[in-house]
Amino acid sequence: MENILSLLPEELEALMAQIGEPKYRARQLFSGLHKGLAPEEITNVGKKTVAKLSEVTTYHLPTPRRRLVSAIDGTIKYLFELADGNCVEAVVMHYKHGSTICISSQVGCRMGCKFCASTIGGRVRDLTPAELIGQVIAAQKDMSAHDPDARIGGIVMMGIGEPLDNFDNVIKFLKLVNAEDGICIGYRHISLSTCGIVDKIYELAKQDLPITLSISLHAPDDTTRSSIMPINQKWGVDALLSACKDYFAATGRRISFEYTLIRGKNDSVASAEQLASVLNSRLRSRSETMPIHVNLIPVNPVEESGFDRSEDKAVKAFAAALEKKGIRATVRRKLGADINASCGQLRRAEQNKT
Ligand code: SAH
Repeated sequence: MENILSLLPEELEALMAQIGEPKYRARQLFSGLHKGLAPEEITNVGKKTVAKLSEVTTYHLPTPRRRLVSAIDGTIKYLFELADGNCVEAVVMHYKHGSTICISSQVGCRMGCKFCASTIGGRVRDLTPAELIGQVIAAQKDMSAHDPDARIGGIVMMGIGEPLDNFDNVIKFLKLVNAEDGICIGYRHISLSTCGIVDKIYELAKQDLPITLSISLHAPDDTTRSSIMPINQKWGVDALLSACKDYFAATGRRISFEYTLIRGKNDSVASAEQLASVLNSRLRSRSETMPIHVNLIPVNPVEESGFDRSEDKAVKAFAAALEKKGIRATVRRKLGADINASCGQLRRAEQNKT
């Protein structure tokens, strides 16, 4: 049976009709469920309805198994336990304009990026739409219990997993989280980060969901990129940037590029110049200036990878070389440094314990 949290408003309406309940009840149910209430806790849904629902659906919300709060900046990291005992991570970061949650899209990951902790044990399984939205609902519920004014206003899909490798469930999740009677976060406040599954980027562009796309680029040339990201052996930098161009043409949404700086691997000024020239030549023509933004992230060393962070000096020089060629670059502010807030680290720490 499907978790009731996976159902879109119109699917819930159809379900209510199927069990002989009036349609309008679906709205109350959807709204209550997305506030973090179990079906039996929603006041205007009667006991008989709850019983009928439980014959055709299940209900489970991810439960916080661990909750770490950064003493430095208030970042909250959750290790959520799913119905089958698997765990995923989500992180809530506080910015001047509000709180944003970073959620996981799969249990583990099969993309094999050499610097990433999430992929070490491979992919266990995809998350369902209920588990994707469940992370947002459960985090919001927990935050509200501590502070009634706390509100999640943005979502980034940058946690464990490759969102475009779980395409259909992610698309459904985007519709669920955007639905009026639920959490209702606008598409413009959602970003999806991908290692570059090119055929799915074209498919995403067709969906008419104006979310921000983040591309994990990490190298300007195929030799370097293939050596740290196996996906590049299937689709090289050129094919990836063509897909980005198409995405921008279709949605008008700016694309940001993630670039993890690894000492001695991809962090020279020559690499920065090559990156700027590749982005400028492949994405911009004389008549149009596509807004491009590069997010520089000094690598978080993962024991197994043997990669080291670039020195501060190298990071600054890299950013300056990009700016000089008209590419906006920022160095990612490190949030939650004291709580293992980077992707996959907490889940791995927990696995190593057992
Ligand atoms: N699979 C998606 C989303 C998850 S990773 C993707 O590849 O984009 C989120 C971001 O963190 C990606 O840009 C990823 O390359 C980066 N990342 C992963 N491990 C990292 C590490 N050890 N240090 C710095 N950035 C890392």
